[in-house]
Amino acid sequence: MAASGTLSTFRLPPLPTIREIIKLFRLQAVKQLSQNFLLDLRLTDKIVRKAGDLTNAYVYEVGPGPGGITRSILNANVTELLVVEKDSRFIPGLQMLSDAAPGKLRIVHGDVLTYKIERAFPESLKRRWEDDPPNVHIIGNLPFSVSTPLIIKWLENVSCKDGPFVYGRTQMTLTFQKEVAERLTASTGSKQRSRLSVMAQYLCNVQHILTIPGRAFVPKPEVDVGVVHFTPLMRPRIEQPFKLVERVVQNAFQFRRKYCYRGLGMLFPEVQRVESTEKLLELADVDPTLRPSQLSVSHFKSLCDVYRKMCDEDPHLFTYNFREELKQNKSKNQERENKERSRR
Ligand code: SAM
Repeated sequence: MAASGTLSTFRLPPLPTIREIIKLFRLQAVKQLSQNFLLDLRLTDKIVRKAGDLTNAYVYEVGPGPGGITRSILNANVTELLVVEKDSRFIPGLQMLSDAAPGKLRIVHGDVLTYKIERAFPESLKRRWEDDPPNVHIIGNLPFSVSTPLIIKWLENVSCKDGPFVYGRTQMTLTFQKEVAERLTASTGSKQRSRLSVMAQYLCNVQHILTIPGRAFVPKPEVDVGVVHFTPLMRPRIEQPFKLVERVVQNAFQFRRKYCYRGLGMLFPEVQRVESTEKLLELADVDPTLRPSQLSVSHFKSLCDVYRKMCDEDPHLFTYNFREELKQNKSKNQERENKERSRR
């Protein structure tokens, strides 16, 4: 370990390569678990550099696997790295890394979907929401089937300032299928604009910072991979509960190719649909003939604010589900038909 002036920099000692670790511990990727590993340490260094300055940081790495990104994080002069890995086969290899970086690497054999990071790091790291982000970072290359539900869960945590965001505006650097990374960062009017774009962008500054070709992974996935950086905003662009925003956005994108009034109409029971949809759009000052992809975050802000008022006036509105109504209507029709048939 080298010391220069008052700044001491940490470098891992020479270690077997990730490829050798995979051989040594027989860590063949399990296809069903979508395990694709990054073996090129120049690439993992690049991902970690894009996460920002990690000097003295506390980092939470999700899904470290054989430890490529883990090594790059350890070499970035962090104070502590906590990794959570579900597959027990990786634990011995990670233990070897921990021995090479004494006191720096904490290994948890667990599931990121349930692990409580809010108690893992020192209280002293906590910053007020309005302050600069704390020196806490989340980094991970997870299977795509985990990273999308996880980001939805973490966005809800951002809106409630809980989970990983009890420390303040914790930054996240995560990989997604390239198409999902494009949706997360898509601007108003673009082809990729979707529910995910609005949900991410009303709460965070979202940047697609890197694209990694599928061939960089072993085994090679069928798609390229996008690395996305999230910094929670000081003030969310929509100041309403997450579940309310999610409901409005989800309904708006219900019929992607139709005018937005079609999807938004599904927020209301059939008997009042036309009238309430008109009221919502008029009060929110949104053109009913815009397509869902043409709605900006500020359009959604107005829609959510008006919808909130309508729900306050009629609390049943918030629990209304058009699919339920459709199902009930279908079974009523079926009953009526059966009765008529038996009368004939
Ligand atoms: N980060 C490594 C890399 O870049 O080479 C491994 C990437 S591999 C795509 C995903 C890793 O996440 C695997 O090690 C897998 O076992 C782990 N994983 C999958 N689901 C997980 C979960 N729910 N909680 C924790 N780890 C998980």
